[in-house]
Amino acid sequence: STPVLSDIGLIGLAVMGQNLVLNLESRGLRVSAYNRTAATTAAFVEAHPGKRLHGAPTLADFVASLARPRRVLVMVKAGAAVDAVIDELLPLLEPGDIVADCGNSLYTDTVRREARLTAAGFVFMGIGVSGGEEGARKGPSIMPGGPEAGWQAMRPMLEAIAARVDGTPCVAHMGPGGAGHFVKMVHNGIEYGDMQLIGEAYQLMRTAGLSAAEMAAVFTRWNEGPLQSYLIEITAQALAQQDPLTGRALVDVILDRAGQKGTGRWTLISAAEHAVPVSVMQAAVEARILSARRDLRLRAAEVLVGPAPAPLPEAEREALLARVHDALYASKIVSYAQGLDLLRAAGEAYGWNLDLGTIASVWRGGCIIRAQFLGRITEAYRADPALDNLLLADGFRQVLARAQDAWRATVADAAARGVAVPAFAAALAYHDGLRTARSPANLLQAQRDYFGAHTYERTDRPAGEMFHTVWPEVI
Ligand code: NAP
Repeated sequence: STPVLSDIGLIGLAVMGQNLVLNLESRGLRVSAYNRTAATTAAFVEAHPGKRLHGAPTLADFVASLARPRRVLVMVKAGAAVDAVIDELLPLLEPGDIVADCGNSLYTDTVRREARLTAAGFVFMGIGVSGGEEGARKGPSIMPGGPEAGWQAMRPMLEAIAARVDGTPCVAHMGPGGAGHFVKMVHNGIEYGDMQLIGEAYQLMRTAGLSAAEMAAVFTRWNEGPLQSYLIEITAQALAQQDPLTGRALVDVILDRAGQKGTGRWTLISAAEHAVPVSVMQAAVEARILSARRDLRLRAAEVLVGPAPAPLPEAEREALLARVHDALYASKIVSYAQGLDLLRAAGEAYGWNLDLGTIASVWRGGCIIRAQFLGRITEAYRADPALDNLLLADGFRQVLARAQDAWRATVADAAARGVAVPAFAAALAYHDGLRTARSPANLLQAQRDYFGAHTYERTDRPAGEMFHTVWPEVI
């Protein structure tokens, strides 16, 4: 008798892989699973009896168990592990088989791997998957990149497992090559920015004297307005969580030292390469770096002089909350404008033809930055596909106009009270830099011409006509 072949196979049974396998199986697919450490495979299959699962003890068995053309998802640790899996897998596959790397791979690695696999006759996809463990199980946001043939072959399965918003699956073909992993990387950069902005709002409230429980109520309320999002929702929940050991709010006993895995840093490096300001993400990554230098901060707290924020009188708190809310919303708009600007620039440079409105709509469900707000971004790009910068879209311009007094007051007040709000301040400075018709770069050009004869253009002469001044000598 012919053995029953699986519709799809997945390699890498850590938390993401296991949950993706269960998600695929729950959509009616028969799934083969393989993990380098075979005991993990066996334990996984045993823990899920009665399902359409095949736990493959060897890679050869795994490959033999798949219907053709084979569809293989790789969900292992990003980096060398992906190449190790590909090295072992390729000799077992046949031309036309499809390999999709679903981890957080660096997009340049994806471009390199695609060239290798394509030359060998295979179809390679680099697929960004967001949503953590729960997203993988119930419906992630999926950002596939690679050739059209690979997308068409994978599309029904990806649409079946993706999150849904208003009946639409949160997956779309991002573009060729590394487009999917690039979009996922920028998603993570935006996630860093959102988290830092929320952290700064929290710090402003905390230093004003609000308790964790009071702040939980504030974030719950905010989650019913334009800030509605997964991150605001979990922030409210986290602030309400009690520590069973001490009975205190759990956040009050969590150490203030944050780690990072690298996607935020990659986004900054890429932004520098494409000459796109992403100052909110930059502030977020640097705030994590500073948080990690806790010993230095503790010493500096003893010796560097500055105001110690005093709690605000009860009567002034509502007004503070209203201001911080608007500052948070305005800063968030700037952060997304910067992230989308990076996608625009990279998309043009790599010829990916990225559709920013579609990207925002894929992020509406399943991923960490999911939010109602993304629907408004999609609308802005649908209304004007050539939109240069999100801040210039009608709806967002109006929000920024309304929010700005509160935004400025929040940043000024934080500076006066000695509370660090690097992301709020970076967002406001970008906004003001963008609306500055006459920047101070004229002086910069004078300096460059002074010490390096770099020449300058004049306001009263055609662009591109260069001038040089013989400046007085300084000894
Ligand atoms: P992980 O901890 O990143 O990776 C562990 C898996 O990789 C295990 O199955 C491990 O096999 C396998 N592996 C490591 N080195 C290997 C090698 N040299 N050869 C073969 N297999 C190797 O797992 P994860 O957290 O589930 O994440 C998987 C991928 O998804 C990563 O790229 C991650 O960045 C991305 N991602 C994670 C999340 C999340 O919330 N965790 C969200 C989105 C995306 P053994 O069991 O044999 O060690």
